[in-house]
Amino acid sequence: MALYMLRQPPGTWSGDVELLVAAAENRRRLLGVYWLPSRGILAAVFRDPVDRWGLFERISEEELRHAYRMECPRGCGYCCALRSGAFVLETELRYLPRWARRIVERQPSRVVETRMGPVRVYMLGTGPLGSCVFFNPRTATCRLEEEAGREAKPIVCRLTYCTLFATGPRGRLLRLPGSKTPKYRPATRREWEEAVKAMRERWLSEWRRRGLPRGPPGSRGV
Ligand code: SF4
Ligand code: SF4
Repeated sequence: MALYMLRQPPGTWSGDVELLVAAAENRRRLLGVYWLPSRGILAAVFRDPVDRWGLFERISEEELRHAYRMECPRGCGYCCALRSGAFVLETELRYLPRWARRIVERQPSRVVETRMGPVRVYMLGTGPLGSCVFFNPRTATCRLEEEAGREAKPIVCRLTYCTLFATGPRGRLLRLPGSKTPKYRPATRREWEEAVKAMRERWLSEWRRRGLPRGPPGSRGV
């Protein structure tokens, strides 16, 4: 098995969408997103990706052994609940369940020119306070993940992390506060859950302040 990482995003719509198209095509080969202390970057690592556009580069197993794997625990929801910048590429529509595809196709979209040709990008943050249309505020979780597993999330959501939560060979880790680049300490399950709860509380307080319901009528709150 050869390991490759996706090249670093150039920060332009065109360049970033090219990388995401390549990542989405290899979505089943994605091992995870890792903080690589040796390079000081976050890297999306894939196993034997199909690289039709030269957008991946080799990474050694040794380097990955010293990396931290980014995690997005269920029940946080911060990135989904407020001003979500998430989107779905048109090349990903075929991976979505039919009900989700129908929702996506009603969202505002723009066409981005890439080396692969024009790619339509559907914006998802059209719910209350810019929340994602797939966010379930009752469970603070992505509905796509709830119904079809983590792999069903749009590729941009699978590659973007807050870096607060990580795992390593010895289990759960939490980012040390105040560190400019990610540094981690081991965390117990309880500490980890407390940290998830604190993140959830950040968007919940904003939702409460605006008088937004946390779920469909009659449902239990988070
Ligand atoms: S803040 Fe972190 S844990 Fe919470 S939803 Fe975003 S990436 Fe996931
Ligand atoms: S698609 Fe899912 S993971 Fe992505 S922002 Fe929306 S609710 Fe969150």
